[in-house]
This record gives sequence, C-alpha cells and structure tokens, in this order.
Amino acid sequence: MSKLDFLKEELESLQETGLFNPIRTIDGPQGAYFTVDGRRMLNLCSNNYLGFANLPELREAAHRAIDVYGVGPGAVRSISGTQRIHIELEEKLAEFKHAEACIVLQAGFTANLAVIPTITGDGDIIFSDELNHASIIDGCRLSKARVVRYAHNNVDDLRAKLQAEKANARRMLIVTDGVFSMDGDIAPLPAIVDVADEFGAMVMVDDAHGEGVLGKSGRGIVNHFGLEDRVDIEVGTLSKAFGVMGGYVTGSKTLIDYLKQRGRPFLFSTGLTPADTAAAIAAVDVLLKSDERVVKLWDNAAYFRKGLNEAGFDTGKTETPITPVMLGDEKLASEFSKELYARGIFASAIKYPTVARGKARIRCMLSAAHEKADLDFAVATFVEVGKMLGVLK
Ligand SMILES: *Cc1c(COP(=O)(O)O)cnc(C)c1O
Repeated sequence: MSKLDFLKEELESLQETGLFNPIRTIDGPQGAYFTVDGRRMLNLCSNNYLGFANLPELREAAHRAIDVYGVGPGAVRSISGTQRIHIELEEKLAEFKHAEACIVLQAGFTANLAVIPTITGDGDIIFSDELNHASIIDGCRLSKARVVRYAHNNVDDLRAKLQAEKANARRMLIVTDGVFSMDGDIAPLPAIVDVADEFGAMVMVDDAHGEGVLGKSGRGIVNHFGLEDRVDIEVGTLSKAFGVMGGYVTGSKTLIDYLKQRGRPFLFSTGLTPADTAAAIAAVDVLLKSDERVVKLWDNAAYFRKGLNEAGFDTGKTETPITPVMLGDEKLASEFSKELYARGIFASAIKYPTVARGKARIRCMLSAAHEKADLDFAVATFVEVGKMLGVLK
C-alpha cells in the first residue's frame, strides 16, 4: 500500500478509456525522416517547420558558444546569469519582429507565465479565446484577474463580452493564439485590434505556430497583417520553427523593462544555455538572409494538401502548413495512425479531449525539410490506408 496508489488507479483508468498516451523514443536528430523506436519513419508530426532543428549553421553556432561560454549560465539572469549572447538574441529578435524590445525566457510556455500574471491582477479582466493554448490558460490561472472566455475566433462574441464587462474592469486584456495548432486556422487579428481599440483593451498574441511561418521571412502573424503598432504584446517560441528551445516576449521598452523586474520565471528560473541562445541567434540570421525555407514550407504544404484533397480527404479549415486529415471517429483515427505507422509514416491521431468529441483527425505537420517525393509517398500511403479503412471509396 503506497500513498500514491491513487495515481495507479488514475493511470489504469486512462488505459481503459483509451486516453493513455504511450510516448515514443526518437534516436538521432529531427528531420524529414527520423528513427522512432529503432525504425526509420517519415516525420509528419514535429514542429520543425523550417528544418532548423538540425541545420549546420545552427549546430555550428551552438558548438562555438559552448567553447566561449561553457554549457550553463550559472544563475538566474537577474543575478549573474545574463550573458552577452542573451542580450544579442533579444536585440536580434526585437529587430526581426519590428518591436522596441524583447525578453527571452526558457520556453514559450514560461513566456506566457511570465507576462500574463505580471501585467494583470485584481480588478482586471482577461478575454481569452476558448481554444487558447494550455500555457495561456495557466498564465491566466496564475493571475488574480477574472477570465472571460469568448467563442473561438468570434469577434462578435468578443465585442459583446467586452461591452457587458467593461464597467466592471479596471483594465482589460484580450489574449489569443496567432495560429491554432489543432486546426491550423488563424486568429482574426485585424478585427480583434479594432474592437480592442474601441474598448481600450490591451491585445496579446501568442504566435508559437506563426513564427517562422507567417509574414515576411517568417516574422509572424503581426507582420502578416501589418499590425506592428497595434498589438501590445507578442509571445513567441524558439522551439518550433526556430528549431531550438526557449521563448520570448516582444513589445514596448516599458513592457520589457517591467517584465525583467517582475516576471517570476525570469527572476526565479535560470535562463537559456549558451548553446540554445547562440543557435537561436543563428536561426534569426538565416531568416534575415533569405526566405527560401519559408517559401519551401508553404509550397510543400500546398502540394500535400492538394494531393490529399484530390484523393477525397477533408483537410478541415486550415490556412497554414498544419494539415489535419479529418476522420471524425476516435477509434478510426487511432487505427488510421497505426496503419500509417506500420507503413513507415509517423503522424499522430488527435482525439478528444484535445479536440471536440467526433472531431478526431490525423494531424500532419509539414516542413521545409520534406521533399516532394516524401509527400508523394505520404499521399499514396494515406490513400491506401483510407481505402482499406473505408474512409475513401
Ligand atoms: C507550443 C506552444 C507553446 C509552448 O512553447 P514551448 O516553447 O514549447 O514551451 C506556447 N503557446 C502556443 C500557442 C504553443 O503552440
């Protein structure tokens, strides 16, 4: 009898209800292909949009930084752990995002925890899209502000809620994902900033899946819509298209100065390693030099989606390289993913509770690392499995 036996029961119940998620082990680097549990598989499920996770320029920058700075920063950044390359990365990201200033944190997740509870509190109201990422939800939970959820990407609902609540609020913050990771749809940011201005609310966008994907050379959703002067706070990750690890916030110098004084993950958790920091700098440099990889990513996504649609698959409402293959039934999605795996394709089934019941799908993540031949193989395999399981005629 152990005090933790209740967790064993919880785990068993996950097993019984099919919600237990077995975690696979990868050998070697991320790329178009990778080795999963010892087998070479086509990789359709990483966020390595631009193939940066194993790019020679980034690897070399990381090696050099270790030679100069060692492997760890030694302390939280506010005491003695801010290295010159941290400042260099922040200046580079601010320039890249056309923002006044930037603060780099350990992860995109932490960036949301650093900003939301720090700039909102008692008497404030946060308006949050109902499909926002878990780290936004947790950031809101850490705040003493009240949270009002609005219907997904629904600006009419947002406006009605702002109208109903404005008399009760000291300050108001609207927060949304830029690109929603399960459907690949984009937040209606121009309309959001319009209603925000109408009600004097601050706007924050978490662009984890838009970074390196949308906008000029992958500058993100704010640049995509040309809203640089109208979005107050941008959160980004260095762990998806940038291929490394880390998160950041960009905005006015006042915002960033304040986060460096009061953001708890900044003050109480050690910053990025020299290797991660230098690799992230190299990622931005690659993007500043050329948009070739961003263009290839979009080409690949269009090619793949066309192949799937022509074969009769429904790819939902995606507007980005996130490509869901909508199947509906939970068990069908699991079986589909298993059959793909047996044929050398690693693409995950996404089911309830991650998405609504009856909206199960295989989510394919495209990358500039893929070649057309890889995508031809993927489409042919989807068709074969789709016919076998009765999804296609
Ligand atoms: C992935 C993701 C994060 C977390 O980023 P990490 O750098 O992996 O911690 C935060 N927000 C959104 C919207 C994401 O998709």
